[in-house]
Amino acid sequence: MVAGGAVTADVGRIPVMVPWLGEEEAQAAADAVRSGWVAQGPRVAEFERAFAARVGAGHGVAVSSCTTALHLALTVLGVGAGDEVVVPSLSFVATANAVRYTGAVPVFADVDPRTANLTPQTVDAVRTPRTRAVLLVHQGGVPADADGMRAACARWGVPLVEDAACAVGTSAGGRPVGSGALLAAWSFHPRKLLTTGEGGMVTTDDAQWAARMRRLREHGMNVSAAERHAAGKPVLEAYLETGFNYRMTDIQAAVGLVQLGKLSEMVARRRELAARYEKLLADIPGLEPVRDPAYGEGNFQSYWVLLGEDFPVGRDELLAVLSDAGISARRGIMAAHLEPAYAGHPAGPLPVTELISGRSLILPLFHTMTEAQQDRVVDALRDAAVTR
Ligand SMILES: *Cc1c(COP(=O)(O)O)cnc(C)c1O
Repeated sequence: MVAGGAVTADVGRIPVMVPWLGEEEAQAAADAVRSGWVAQGPRVAEFERAFAARVGAGHGVAVSSCTTALHLALTVLGVGAGDEVVVPSLSFVATANAVRYTGAVPVFADVDPRTANLTPQTVDAVRTPRTRAVLLVHQGGVPADADGMRAACARWGVPLVEDAACAVGTSAGGRPVGSGALLAAWSFHPRKLLTTGEGGMVTTDDAQWAARMRRLREHGMNVSAAERHAAGKPVLEAYLETGFNYRMTDIQAAVGLVQLGKLSEMVARRRELAARYEKLLADIPGLEPVRDPAYGEGNFQSYWVLLGEDFPVGRDELLAVLSDAGISARRGIMAAHLEPAYAGHPAGPLPVTELISGRSLILPLFHTMTEAQQDRVVDALRDAAVTR
């Protein structure tokens, strides 16, 4: 999924994404190794506090991925067999899979054509008396209208979980995504902005949920290994419920702390490159680039363009043309309901989902991308638009 780093990338080929990692991260990881404490410990605790503060949440619970973060968030809400959870089909498949882990059924709702995110209207269209939660994705780092969805969910009496896997550094209404969220789940996979190799986090303002998620990520233990170590005398732990091993390591958290310090710079650079793409692509007919909604500012974790009916080349052909020109692009956001894992799964009409997943592609955008590289991408798109 992730192109090789700048050092190993084949010269001249433009990758779709490269994590922005340097000596500082390498040093932090080495320090964690040398400290002898490599599993979940003090660095994880520090990363949780710093990350939660950055996204405006009271508590952070670090875990192994956003997928496991989503599973824990749904678990503390009590979602289980016999329940339905409304999710977008237009998302990475982990969003829907996390619902299935609990025994509940993901119910797919369509998305808004401009933001590619759920809206109160699309959720209302598939909501039933069995709906136990709504899972709102901030897709590709484009902020969903969380205020609108929170208000709708409050009216319906249904809790809202936010899948903010892609959205670290994204803001809406002048506040970071995550601020005011009941439960938000984050990813630190290298395809996102801030990376720890693998990793995730749940943020919430609810101290009791945070405490339960801390337990659940560590086998259901009532006292963590780090706390037992710090106690300096024998502490007998108890296993209060069936938990999981969803822990993050201190090596990962050490890297995450350095990455967090670079986040504002990462977002600023991506926004700068996105604005430049928008300007350069403006005179190519039939290409509609992703944009900020009126109420917020995205981090452009994925920079996608939608191909209009009048674009002379189909999406898959365009991906091949770009690949021949040494440019790694990707198909746009997937639609889970079209994958074999969800064959036969009940789904209503999802016309916008199918339009976006079928006719969009993700262009290269990474921190160290040069203007010359960006120009090459735009030139290849322009050639495809006029010469076919
Ligand atoms: C990447 C992604 C996930 C999964 O994140 P992991 O950390 O790889 O588990 C979940 N939801 C969305 C919307 C994503 O983009």
